[in-house]
Amino acid sequence: MVATPIGNLRDLSSRARDVLAQVDLIAAEDTRVTGQLLKHLGIGTPMLSLREHNERAMAEKLVARLAEGAAIAQVSDAGTPAISDPGAHLVAAVHAAGLPVVPIPGASALTTGLCAAGFTCPHTLFYGFLPPKRAQRQAALAPLAELPYVLVCYEAPHRIVETLDDLVALFGGDRPAVLARELTKTFETIRRAPLAELALFVRADTNQQRGEFVLLLDAAPPRPAATAADAHDTVLAPLVAELP
Ligand code: SAM
Repeated sequence: MVATPIGNLRDLSSRARDVLAQVDLIAAEDTRVTGQLLKHLGIGTPMLSLREHNERAMAEKLVARLAEGAAIAQVSDAGTPAISDPGAHLVAAVHAAGLPVVPIPGASALTTGLCAAGFTCPHTLFYGFLPPKRAQRQAALAPLAELPYVLVCYEAPHRIVETLDDLVALFGGDRPAVLARELTKTFETIRRAPLAELALFVRADTNQQRGEFVLLLDAAPPRPAATAADAHDTVLAPLVAELP
């Protein structure tokens, strides 16, 4: 499982480069995209396509090749495979066959965005892509609003304005948030602001609606501890009112 850059080609590790050059076969999400990377590296390893729709069937074939002794690398178009990308079915099949899985770590939009966010909460919930339809997205987000975890989501450019509006409505405009756009690329933008301000910033500038995005929301603030007075209001008073 070989991580590739999420923009800047110099982020490919030398170990990843060696593995891509030495394996017998590369299973790539899109052979055209990986072909560009291999061309840049001067690597001629054969490739085949392993995509979401053929991953289960392809996993069987690849496991058979691995069992015969072949070395196979899997890559996605960008970043770490199997993180909001194909790869998990293949990895599960390789484990099931009792064969070794070797991760070659590198860039991921998740860790790249998170390390630039500056949220001190040590717990993170990685959601990946939010549902594309608004009602489903709101339903997915609602139960996450009060969790004491930093929330990390991937979002597409044509939904970024709408999703920020949903987040303001559900998490509140004051929630500290980070928009991490075009990470490691020429127009990299990392902006930390309260959600409402971030939503206005993106809405006001169509350039900020282009490219690739990670959205990060700070953990919900701790709820104030219940006091004896709260207990009286919420538990005792209603009970007393019921008494004859
Ligand atoms: N497996 C990849 C990884 O580890 O980063 C993620 C693949 S997922 C199909 C693609 C999404 O990741 C994009 O829609 C965007 O949300 C996020 N992403 C990828 N590259 C990015 C970048 N350079 N800047 C910001 N977000 C990025």
